[in-house]
Amino acid sequence: MDVFKTRVGECRAIAISQENYFMETKGMEPFVVAEGGHRRLYAVCPECDNPVRMVGLNRRELDAGHRRPYAKHIKRDVPGVAEYDGKAYLECPYSDPGYHLPSATRRPPSDPTGRALYRIMRDRFDRVEYAWRRRSGIRLGVKGLRKALTLWRNDKAWLNYGSSYCNLPQMLFMGLPEQNLYGQCVLRDGAVARALAGLGDVRLEAVDFSDSYVRISTTRFVNITFTLGPASRRKTGEHMTESFPLCLLSDGRQIGGFIHVDTDPEWFGGILNMPDWHENRRLLGLAADVLG
Ligand SMILES: [Zn+2]
Repeated sequence: MDVFKTRVGECRAIAISQENYFMETKGMEPFVVAEGGHRRLYAVCPECDNPVRMVGLNRRELDAGHRRPYAKHIKRDVPGVAEYDGKAYLECPYSDPGYHLPSATRRPPSDPTGRALYRIMRDRFDRVEYAWRRRSGIRLGVKGLRKALTLWRNDKAWLNYGSSYCNLPQMLFMGLPEQNLYGQCVLRDGAVARALAGLGDVRLEAVDFSDSYVRISTTRFVNITFTLGPASRRKTGEHMTESFPLCLLSDGRQIGGFIHVDTDPEWFGGILNMPDWHENRRLLGLAADVLG
């Protein structure tokens, strides 16, 4: 993996470099320790909350296959950093994305990663919604969001090993029944607006609250909906993203090709941890009401 974090239960993914590692750990114990005469640099996997070890922050450690420093899981506890959880490791998308498929098994209810995902959805729902809207181009009203969040809660979706820190916005909608887009807003410059603009029955109307969005309306009764399918994982070197196919439908027939709503761990972590964020109290109130 090409990202790390320093605390279990936190949604962050920091690019691995000497500078970033030092800024986050200050070079202190328990992250930087001497073991058997060797300097060891530890951190936490951004996805599965297991301990990882930095490789190649000293360039001489790098082998021929790696030109950049990376982190790899270690299968034991690192006191003060993270405890090893073998099941979470096997389910981690970084453990072996080549053949790995999200499994049907679930985290135990007490699982710390699952509990952290639940808290993020409840306490920072406005940020999750913002990330969803920017990545997908779809800005749903409170009613549609409440429906999705209620299904997420009733499914206990945070216990799925497929749910991770970086895909919370996508997992909120993945596998849900068709969501109606009539009267909803979409990003004016986004792929969804482009696909809908080609349909004779659909109109995209200006809205008064923003120049960036347009509202979907139709000239006759036609049911415009969307669904979101399961992710495929893409690994380029140590960098991993997940791609969720979004399907636009008109009266049950697909419009155009799939639109890919990709994850971006660093970008999403940045939004979740942005210090000068303007809270959307309406959305936070909704999340508190549903997930209380
Ligand atoms: Zn992991």
